[in-house]
Amino acid sequence: MAMGGLFSRKGGGDAGPSRSPGSNAKLRPIRRDDAERRLALLDDFEESGLGWFWATDAEGRLTYLTANAAQQLETGADALLGRSLSSLFVPDQEEEQESQRTLGFLLSSRHSIADLPVRVAAGERETWWTISGKPQLDGEGNFLGYRGSARDSTAQRESQRDAARLAQYDSLTGLANRHRMSKRLTSTLTAYRAAKRSCALLMLDLDRFKQVNDTLGHPAGDELLKQVAQRIGSLIGKRGEIGRLGGDEFQIILPDMDDRGELGDLAARLIQMVSQPYSIDGSRAIIGSSVGIAIAPYDGLETEELVSSADLALYAAKGGGRGQYRFYSSELKDGARLRRQIEEDLRDALHAGQIDLCLQPIVRVDNNTVSGFEALLRWEHPDRGPIAPDEFVPIAEESAIINEIGEFAIDRACELAAAWPVDLRVAVNVSPVQFASGDLAGVVERALARTGLSPHLLELEITESVFLGDQEATHRLFKHLKKIGVRLSLDDFGTGYSSLGYLRRAPFDKIKIDRSFVRGATQDDNNNAAIITAIVSLAEALDMETVAEGVEAMDELELVRARGTSHVQGYIYSRPLTQVEVLERLADDKLECEPEGPARHRADRQTVFKRIGVIHEDHRYDVVLRNLSRTGARIEGLLEVPEGTDLVLDLGGGQLAVAVVRRSDGYTQGLEFETPLVRDGTDGLCTRHRVSPYALAAAGMPLASLPPGHYPLFNAGEEGGSRSRPKFLQVDLSHAGSKAA
Ligand code: C2E
Ligand code: CA
Ligand code: CA
Repeated sequence: MAMGGLFSRKGGGDAGPSRSPGSNAKLRPIRRDDAERRLALLDDFEESGLGWFWATDAEGRLTYLTANAAQQLETGADALLGRSLSSLFVPDQEEEQESQRTLGFLLSSRHSIADLPVRVAAGERETWWTISGKPQLDGEGNFLGYRGSARDSTAQRESQRDAARLAQYDSLTGLANRHRMSKRLTSTLTAYRAAKRSCALLMLDLDRFKQVNDTLGHPAGDELLKQVAQRIGSLIGKRGEIGRLGGDEFQIILPDMDDRGELGDLAARLIQMVSQPYSIDGSRAIIGSSVGIAIAPYDGLETEELVSSADLALYAAKGGGRGQYRFYSSELKDGARLRRQIEEDLRDALHAGQIDLCLQPIVRVDNNTVSGFEALLRWEHPDRGPIAPDEFVPIAEESAIINEIGEFAIDRACELAAAWPVDLRVAVNVSPVQFASGDLAGVVERALARTGLSPHLLELEITESVFLGDQEATHRLFKHLKKIGVRLSLDDFGTGYSSLGYLRRAPFDKIKIDRSFVRGATQDDNNNAAIITAIVSLAEALDMETVAEGVEAMDELELVRARGTSHVQGYIYSRPLTQVEVLERLADDKLECEPEGPARHRADRQTVFKRIGVIHEDHRYDVVLRNLSRTGARIEGLLEVPEGTDLVLDLGGGQLAVAVVRRSDGYTQGLEFETPLVRDGTDGLCTRHRVSPYALAAAGMPLASLPPGHYPLFNAGEEGGSRSRPKFLQVDLSHAGSKAA
């Protein structure tokens, strides 16, 4: 209490030596019996506002309160006299309720009160006092009431609260910080574990946020983060808790969520919202985002495990490139290990001659003639066999290796094309990393000079993401490349951060329509066909060619032709070829190329080759999954299963899908799922729900993550010996067509 200092000053006035020897004035100590001067001192103190006094009678009624204090209660001191002390205060929230109870308890039990915070029951503004007091007794020990002091502690309390807030919240966005999120997650998981409830954890990370920071400056980056936080907040609302873990990383806890269909939709909406353009101080900024999702209890029971699962899923989503979400699966863990291995092996691959290019024809649709080839990287790994560029290019992009590989690709493509007997174009992919960092124009000039290829035969394929970088430098580079005389083509159009603005300014000769628009364009449940039409008319208006990528079926070819694309690249004409194969064709003067392929593209049916389990009655069989769509699957390995049979497919990781046999032919069955599968964010499919480890625990399994393909629930019959004879004969297909398509 502040007054302590005042009254303790040198024993309350018994004569003492002067502390200022330089002063000539005579010292006039206040004696204990000098009531008048002591009172004046107390008056001064009361008026200073540093502290107040109060007193009650034996019934707890106020007999005194400093006038200043009464003002805070918005009444005169006299009006308060006779009221009970505790009626001046109100219970606040939880913690404060506690102190209110304590005050009542202390008063009624006649204990001393020491620095007790109480909330004042008056006014709009929240006011807090800290009160102290002592019971007064007469000579016989009879209780007379209390005497005490009080002071206004509102400001101190606010600053304590701010400090507490700071420790829990991110000051930039106002969202919970890493510390709070982690605490929340732990308490949620602990509570939910007992209640066998589920909880989803989403990790969201901005794509290329660094570029915004670098080009628009840090204040703009901060502003962007605030806007991102608002957008996430408006979408999630009260459904979950949102936090910023630092940098451009956000986390969302969604209690009682385990439906992967719903979560996938939510993640897609999040990505879409975050990817809309931002206006920051008059500048426009576009960023993307990726989302990783893990769900307790399936993907982790403890905070650390769940977070690391969500992190892995996020990492996989980012590796997939542009604005994707991804669910955690146990395969990702193996994937992460593989990735590190690939990164290591990649360092020597180029020098060891393991990397080369193959060539896929690009065909004019009006006369089916080859106009050129796209050069595609191929890595022949000594142990693993061929590794696709989708797998190693993103890894190379994380290090400087991409520049080396990119330089090689340009040089090698020029070399291959220069060796062709006819003038045909060669298109080379340029990574946005390579575009932003290295000396791309120099690389191109040197390659052309070394191989003697004419510049107009070299085409560089660039993706939209280059426009997210330094605009000035990008345009300078475009200009330089045009001066050299090479052609520019906009790759994967429509998948990135499509802004038509830059299309007008950038000197592209060609737009490549991404294969995700071609796929499914022939079905009527989407507007892909309309998008293709729009892109074609846009390209025509700007005098650019169009290439439809990934055309596989006749109906797709018909559609893109009808919609006016000038070129097609896809398996319908040819898969990528080796230089030897290309030279053979060209030697025969064979520029014509006949389309060849299935009549129709089967609705999102994926060709797969995967061993899975099938459960029928109390038996489990091993079969091979040959294709999979949202609504059904084809399996091989069981003989003569009648149509109409109910089966359960065990797709791994707790994913059980109930299906009925619709077609049956020898050892092949076509199945229809009871509930359609949902997208896993990338190219795959998954079940909406999984068998909970709790259910397995109930069946006698330890409450740990699920070992793949072990379901005592379904094998329960085994032990009792009551197992019936298997209904179907299982055939071993390990030698038949075991190569993935
Ligand atoms: P992209 O530029 O979109 O290349 C086309 C990809 O589609 C190629 O895959 C090609 O084999 C595949 N494709 C062609 N026709 C069809 C079809 O009818 N159906 C299907 N499903 N796919 C078809 P690839 O060779 O695996 O290349 C994948 C990606 O790797 C390329 O996509 C490109 O982004 C990247 N890439 C390839 N070579 C290079 C390179 O030299 N440098 C850089 N930076 N990236 C490269
Ligand atoms: Ca390409
Ligand atoms: Ca492409």
